[in-house]
Amino acid sequence: MIHKNIVCPVCGAACDDIQVEIKGGKIEAKNVCKMGISRFNEVTSPQRFKQPLLKFGGKLRPVSWDGALQIAADILSSAKRPLISIGSETSCEAHEVGLMIGEYLGAIVDTTGNGATVMGTQEAGKVGATEGQKKNRADLLVYWGTNPLESMPRQMSRYGVFPRGYWTKRGRFDRTIITVDPRKTLTAKASDLHVQLKPDSDYELISALLTLLHGKTPHHSVEEITGVPISVMEEMLGIMKNCNFGTISVGVGLSSSPGKYRNIEIAMNFVKELNNYSKFTIGVIRSRCNAAGFSQVASYMYGYPFGLDFMRGYPRYNPGEFTTVDLLREKDVDAAFVMCSDLLSQIPPDCAAYLSEIPLICLDTIPCPTTSISDIVLPGVVDSIECEGTFYRLDDVPIYFEPFLDSPFKFTQSNEDTLKQLFEKIKEGKTQTGFLQSAFKQEESMPAILPGVL
Ligand code: SF4
Repeated sequence: MIHKNIVCPVCGAACDDIQVEIKGGKIEAKNVCKMGISRFNEVTSPQRFKQPLLKFGGKLRPVSWDGALQIAADILSSAKRPLISIGSETSCEAHEVGLMIGEYLGAIVDTTGNGATVMGTQEAGKVGATEGQKKNRADLLVYWGTNPLESMPRQMSRYGVFPRGYWTKRGRFDRTIITVDPRKTLTAKASDLHVQLKPDSDYELISALLTLLHGKTPHHSVEEITGVPISVMEEMLGIMKNCNFGTISVGVGLSSSPGKYRNIEIAMNFVKELNNYSKFTIGVIRSRCNAAGFSQVASYMYGYPFGLDFMRGYPRYNPGEFTTVDLLREKDVDAAFVMCSDLLSQIPPDCAAYLSEIPLICLDTIPCPTTSISDIVLPGVVDSIECEGTFYRLDDVPIYFEPFLDSPFKFTQSNEDTLKQLFEKIKEGKTQTGFLQSAFKQEESMPAILPGVL
């Protein structure tokens, strides 16, 4: 049997046209890129976590589901300032329960998504467009600090560059592509114009473009700072002013260079001013399937997009104080729950060192550096393959997905279900509060203090 219109749970494109057939216990998928197929293969991988694990004697060993949840609930309940880090590789429904647990516990809830982009949007406001609008209307695409041909392989073929749209009937021939990147990436090579700026000079280049847009000539020193001649800036701006519908797709190359969210802010202000000449929009190339989801869910539930502190009983938001890296660097949390992301690989070494010292619960599908330092590992269910839910696509459009397989576990049907069960355990009360956690690091004595758990 062929399953159609399956949503790919890998990158922000959330392609919803995947066809899947199961042959001899293996998944064969069509319309999927190499990144996507590796995730589909992960489902049947022998590496996959098949049961909950608890670390004692320095090794992760199988435990009962109830026991693992009980200890996880106890760790979170008895911590003074727990951190709940919710990754992008799970559904909005799971995000919602994670946030409710955080509120109940007075914890800090954060995500691994790109906060700089959200903050830039808060500062400037975004002139956005859906990918469908881009496909049908855009005759100019600017890729700034991103290489979608490798990081989001089907974005260019489904929405961006090659498809035939209503007003772009000749596909690639009706579109101009500009790439702004210090590297000669595959995307840059496939572009009509590659603006090869010096690393970390994005803010200066956009400032110079704004100056030109205002009818003035930027100071000549900008050529040395950015490595881009003013004549090339003028050429680029001329193309942007004269298109029918232009769009800038930004990536982490822009939001993670010095200036961070200020780079996004000035890019969004630049796009606003370009609308005096032509229709222009800006969007984000998001590398994870539901990277846009957490900020949507957190915003509609509590008014803030990430880094929420519930310690005072109401949500507070202060990036730089209530955000994961800052909390770990200041040793400001005493337990952590990391869900559906390899947090350890994404944080600086001093933060990673502290994360390995505190009690850590992890929910994931296959081993990764974060699960290797975890004290408890809860096996994850793969969204869109084994359970239903919702992702927000890169253009903030919600995509509902249905599974073609059942959950491989009897004890949980989805990550949302796992969190709901954990929430129930937390609400049931702190039966052994403090005792388990204080004993937790004394790994040799773990089996003795956990009757009925193993
Ligand atoms: S582009 Fe992204 S969402 Fe689409 S198939 Fe590839 S990995 Fe999956």
